[in-house]
Order: sequence, then structure tokens, then C-alpha cells
Amino acid sequence: MYTVEAVKSRQQRRPAIAAREMTVPVFRFAPSPNGPLHLGHALSALLNADMAADSGGRMLVRIEDVDITRARPEHERAILDDLDWLGVAYEKPVRRQSEHAGDYAAALDRLAGFGLVYRSFLSRAEIAAAIAAEEARVGRPWPRDPDGAPLYPDVDRLRTAAEAEALAAAGRPYALRLDMAKAARLAGPLAWAEFGDRPDGPSETVAADPAAWGDVVLAGKFVPAAYHLAVVVDDALQGVSDVVRGRDLYLATAVHRLLQTLLDLPAPRYHHHRLIVGADGRKLAKSKGAAGLATLRAAGLAPADVRRMVGLAPINVSTQ
Ligand code: GLU
Repeated sequence: MYTVEAVKSRQQRRPAIAAREMTVPVFRFAPSPNGPLHLGHALSALLNADMAADSGGRMLVRIEDVDITRARPEHERAILDDLDWLGVAYEKPVRRQSEHAGDYAAALDRLAGFGLVYRSFLSRAEIAAAIAAEEARVGRPWPRDPDGAPLYPDVDRLRTAAEAEALAAAGRPYALRLDMAKAARLAGPLAWAEFGDRPDGPSETVAADPAAWGDVVLAGKFVPAAYHLAVVVDDALQGVSDVVRGRDLYLATAVHRLLQTLLDLPAPRYHHHRLIVGADGRKLAKSKGAAGLATLRAAGLAPADVRRMVGLAPINVSTQ
């Protein structure tokens, strides 16, 4: 009933409910539906589900399909099917990034309001040419980000607003990038809490170096938010308290802490787990079809075999 008393009593109850909800840890598994799940994903999903169960927390699944040029609905269906088969229980409905462009646009506006966003027009070939020219000029290799990609050259950041406007008006496609030097100055020193095998165990404070990534992309022509922006907005909107994901994203956490600080979003705690490597000793990639869960399943393996293959203890240990 919408009586004044009922509203008042709801308002009085709200702080207590909020305080209780805040103490329940929230985990998430966030696959990109660009291909089938492999053993590396299985480790991530199972660790999240195990930690949520052990800590009495909540377990969410988020479909990271914001890049519509790569995401496929059939992969999403297969991913959810694999998770059900694995026995990973999660809350429904799942959040699908493609349905929340407005949330990312609001975050982008806030960053733009700080003067931290600019249009970048260079094609791959133009980037390579700009870098080659700069390397020849200074006689040193151009810096690369922790993933090995060259940092975006200064050309577009140095354009006047009128110049950028004219290029956009002429139909030149562009992406939106973060002015990293300015953003890092504004945010000041950053760090994150990295916990070990147990979310309630000790954590280590890791100094974050977002500048190592240069002027990261925030949004593209067909992409309302690039990964870094979408992930911080979603983790905050979904109340994620504990991010458990692969070690390949360890250093990217610096960019996430930067964006969280600029957007005034809470900082989750992080656990970056070991990666599962293939027979060639390299990280499993979806594109290689390596150790796909659907393939293992079709070959007659059971979820318990998958747990063993990724190095996790069996779930229903008998106490008899
Ligand atoms: N969507 C990312 C991936 O599939 C994971 C993002 C995250 O866990 O932060 O690699």
C-alpha cells in the first residue's frame, strides 16, 4: 500500500537493507560471446561460483557483447548451456552489455565533461606510419603497452577542436580515446587490493600504472563502450565486490582503477587466477578451438572431469 506510513517505514528500513546487502560479496563471470568456452573459462567460472558459495555470496553472469561486430547470439546460447552443464548456478536474468548503451554513454559524458576524451581518426596504416616517423626522428623504439601494442600516437590529441570537428563532418570514422596523461594526473596515485585463494584472506596492495596503456579507446564507431569502460560501469552497477578473472587482465586493472576513480565508482577487490595453457605452453585462445567445453562434453567427459582438468578439487567431497 502506498500510504505515507508505508513509504516512511520503507525509507527507515532501507539503510539496514543496504548495509546487509553490502556485506554479501558479489562475484561475476563475464564471458564475451565471441566463441565457445574453453577450459580457461571453465576455471574462471568455477572459481567464481566456488568462492561465491563458500562466502555465502551472490554469483552473476554478464554477457560482454558490447562489441556487436564480434558477438554472436549462438555463442551466448552455447556459453549459458555450458555453464548449466558445468553446474555453475547464477542469478537470472543475466546482464547483457548490448542492452545498456545508455549507461556507458552517461559515463563517457562525465569523462568528456572533464576534458579527458578526444576523437581519434588514424587508420592502422596511419598509426604505423606515424610511429615509424617518430622512431626515425628520435632514434628509439616507440613505447608499447603491456600487451605489446604500440601506444596511440599524439597526432589526434594535439588537433584543435575545430580540426577534429571538420574531419568528423567530412565523414572520417573515429573512435573516442582517453587523454591518459591528463586523466592519470587528475586521478593521482592509484592502487588495487589483490586477494589470494580466499576472498576473506589477506590481500596485497598493488600500485596501478594506467599510463603504461597510453590513450586507450573508450568507444568506437559500432561499439558504444570499449571493454575497459563497460567493465567498470557494469561492475559498479551490478554491485560486484570481488572480481575473479584471468591473470591476463592483471595489468589492465590499472585502467579500471583509473576509470573507477574518475567516475566516482567503488573499487572491487581483485583476484587474478592462473591461466590454463595448451599443449604448446601458450594461453588457450577461443580462436584455436582449444579444449572447448562442448568438445569435451561430446567426447563423454563429465563436469567432475573438467574440475580435475583445471586443477580444482572435487565439489562434493564425501565426509564419510
Ligand atoms: N569479457 C572478458 C573476457 O571474456 C572478461 C572481462 C573481465 O572479467 O573483466 O575475457
